[in-house]
Amino acid sequence: PKFVYAFAEANKDMKDLLGGKGANLGEMTRLGLPVPPGFTITTEACLAYLATGREPDGLAEEVSEQLAKLEQAMGKRLGDTEDPLLVSVRSGAKHSMPGMMETVLNVGLNDESVHGLAVQAGDERFAYDSYRRLIQMFGKTVLGVDGEHFEDVLEAAKQAKGVTSDLDLDAKDLRELVQVYKDIVVEHAGQPFPQDPREQMELATRAVFDSWNTPRAVIYRRQERIPSNLGTAVNIVAMVFGNLGMDSGTGVAFTRDPASGAQGIYGDYLQNAQGEDVVAGIRNTVPLRELERIDKRSYNELLHIMQTLEEHYRDLCDIEFTIERGKLWMLQTRVGKRTAAAAFRIATQLVDQGLIDMTEAMSRVNGAQLAQLMFPRFDEKAERHKIAQGMNASPGAAVGKVVFDSYTAVKWSRSGEQVILVRRETNPDDLNGMIAAAGILTSRGGKTSHAAVVARGMGKTCVCGAETLDVDTKQRVLHAPHGIEVHEGDVISVDGGTGEVFLGEVPVVDSPIVRYFEGELDPADEEADDLVKAVDRIMRHADGVRRMAIRTNADTPEDAARARRFGAQGIGLCRTEHMFLGERRALVEQLILADTDQARERQLAELLPLQRADFIQLLREMDGLPVTIRLLDPPLHEFLPDITELSVRVAVAEARGEQREGDLRLLQAVHRLHEQNPMLGLRGVRLGVVIPGLFQMQARAILEAAAEHTKTGGVPRVEIMVPLVANVQEFETVKQDIIQVAREVRAAESVHLEFLIGTMIELPRAALTADQIAEAAEFFSFGTNDLTQTTWGFSRDDVEAAFFSAYLEKGIFGVSPFESLDREGVGELVRIAVGKGRSQRPGLKLGVCGEHGGDADSVHFFNAVGLDYVSCSPFRVPVARLEAGRATS
Ligand code: ADP
Ligand code: MG
Ligand code: MG
Repeated sequence: PKFVYAFAEANKDMKDLLGGKGANLGEMTRLGLPVPPGFTITTEACLAYLATGREPDGLAEEVSEQLAKLEQAMGKRLGDTEDPLLVSVRSGAKHSMPGMMETVLNVGLNDESVHGLAVQAGDERFAYDSYRRLIQMFGKTVLGVDGEHFEDVLEAAKQAKGVTSDLDLDAKDLRELVQVYKDIVVEHAGQPFPQDPREQMELATRAVFDSWNTPRAVIYRRQERIPSNLGTAVNIVAMVFGNLGMDSGTGVAFTRDPASGAQGIYGDYLQNAQGEDVVAGIRNTVPLRELERIDKRSYNELLHIMQTLEEHYRDLCDIEFTIERGKLWMLQTRVGKRTAAAAFRIATQLVDQGLIDMTEAMSRVNGAQLAQLMFPRFDEKAERHKIAQGMNASPGAAVGKVVFDSYTAVKWSRSGEQVILVRRETNPDDLNGMIAAAGILTSRGGKTSHAAVVARGMGKTCVCGAETLDVDTKQRVLHAPHGIEVHEGDVISVDGGTGEVFLGEVPVVDSPIVRYFEGELDPADEEADDLVKAVDRIMRHADGVRRMAIRTNADTPEDAARARRFGAQGIGLCRTEHMFLGERRALVEQLILADTDQARERQLAELLPLQRADFIQLLREMDGLPVTIRLLDPPLHEFLPDITELSVRVAVAEARGEQREGDLRLLQAVHRLHEQNPMLGLRGVRLGVVIPGLFQMQARAILEAAAEHTKTGGVPRVEIMVPLVANVQEFETVKQDIIQVAREVRAAESVHLEFLIGTMIELPRAALTADQIAEAAEFFSFGTNDLTQTTWGFSRDDVEAAFFSAYLEKGIFGVSPFESLDREGVGELVRIAVGKGRSQRPGLKLGVCGEHGGDADSVHFFNAVGLDYVSCSPFRVPVARLEAGRATS
């Protein structure tokens, strides 16, 4: 294969082979932009090197060939003593991995060519500055010398001279520094700094290859779910110099604001500097606007290029550039990362500029971003004192007093305080404190650290890996940069959506996007935030193109009403067990204790009107829309008191010589109903089969509510759903009971009643025999939570704490199968059930309820297998609408 491509041979679609940087350098070259010439060594060469430990055959020859062309184009030879060509050796993988991999500048300098460079540039200081940078970068990234050794002597040199900026070091100082640097290399690398330019280039290339597998790169890829078998490309680029005086410099820029999406001039510039100085924060940069004053011609050219890039990539781009004595050079560009708000704004702005259409705009945003915009947030207009930036591990805005241990977190929160648990890292011992805290902040660990995983699982605000913070749990103090100290009990504010940490209390406001969905903000209003307008436009488009309907999981009229405002087109899951709690618990207890048919019927008769009233309200809120009501699912003992508490109560009473007849009978019932594996026990349809009258009572309540709603002029669209069916006969038994009830209600109420009877598919056996079940069932709703439990054999309530974090850390799962549907296993069962069900009953209505209905990736899968709707919690409804739209394009 061909291992080396000149920039002129490359283009932006070659990212797999040439990495993002190389592909885009090629693209800019083809656009005629000023890119220093160079070439790219492919990711295939990298993979071959990593597999065998040596460069593949032919690579050296191809590099020589390209280097010769480069030397010809530049009119200089690599490392020539009179007039040296210098190059940078730069990593560049397919996905950007900021700060993860390595770059070496000024390759080609040695003890002799440094003189040539000085003469050519007419600037000795510049030549030695470049040389000391090479030894420093090369020593660190290629020879593995700890960078601190170099930084320390640079610092010492400045101090000895009584200056603070490296610009105040002159040629002599830098020449001496070069000598010290070379000594450091000998001492710490056990070999001298290599003088042969070609050897420098080859060693640097190897180092870039090797950097693909450094531990931090491996961890980063795991966090970001970047495959580990891609390898990195290497870019060899002719050097241009930003450190040639005050008419030179280097900078970074965005074509628009990556935080807000606003168009304008965003970036930083640093005069008389090279490469990393801007990011490293060695000297203070100036805002890009200042460049207009410093070098108007370059500034205008830069703006022009930024516009070209935006129009070409039809998206926000970020760029790196250098100015050498008034001549602008482009060193990098890519489609830039952005915040959720900016993603929506930019997408619609680009539509207005005629660069993309609405379908493309919709594909440029996603449900996760929309969800992020729906969290309550810190008031951006409030005064905020940011003290740290970490990773946005789990969204939300939390304010509270700092505590440093789990015990204090629990104690303070019991006394009504809001606390933020601050730890270096968390471990399972911190669990109680994490539960008690309003938010969690750690100074170490990434998005798959214990803190992040657990916090996301609990829906708790979390910022992790805020590395500039020093957490001293012994002294109970948090040290932030600039000498800021935060003591236990001091208030901080933590933004899990952005990763920011603020000192003191930042006021929290409702998200404008939620207010928009609630109907409180009118996007047509001229005053409306352009973010609201952007979200509205994209949501409308998604609604227009999506095939699947979106329903909600709601048990109360309030939830139903909110979900409807959020765009739900019905209820996909109403859990009736929630209607058995609270004051009604006593009735349910009596039902369970009933030892005669009469006693049981009496209790059922008391529950009937209460259930009916619930359903009437729900049907009213969802008038005209389908409402799926699930018959009782959980095991009965869940409605009884805790066995230990009850035993103690009985024992205490006995000791006092009291007789508590009721408690005793209750205790007996608890024992009788006790199960080793309640999840696999007497629940769902099994209850309907075993307990006479229970499901009939529920069906009667539902159908009488429907009759009542019809009489008052409403349109009820009831769907009665039987849970946990494994076998068509058990479903059939319950179905006949319901049909009998329906006959009676029709006769008694003399109204026309239409309804469906269907089942949940949440057991593997149900999926595998879906054709048989579809003979009797009029609809299926996939209960993917239970289906995941029973397919994997995981108990959902136990596994997350027990071993999921280990599974996630070891990469056995990229993501928990309860969060995002396991397509290969659980998904295959869904696919089978869809096929078998529809083959038996072509019009079979198919939906899904459960957490996966609001998960983006799962929604795409459900769309692909042909479900009619997904159902999710009210707050996820907008996310599901958007993702269902995106799934169709
Ligand atoms: P990263 O991927 O970490 O951004 P780069 O390969 O882009 O690393 O290099 C970092 C910086 O080094 C660039 O932004 C640029 O300022 C500087 N640099 C790289 N190559 C050259 C070059 N050929 N001439 C001048 N500066 C360069
Ligand atoms: Mg870069
Ligand atoms: Mg279930």
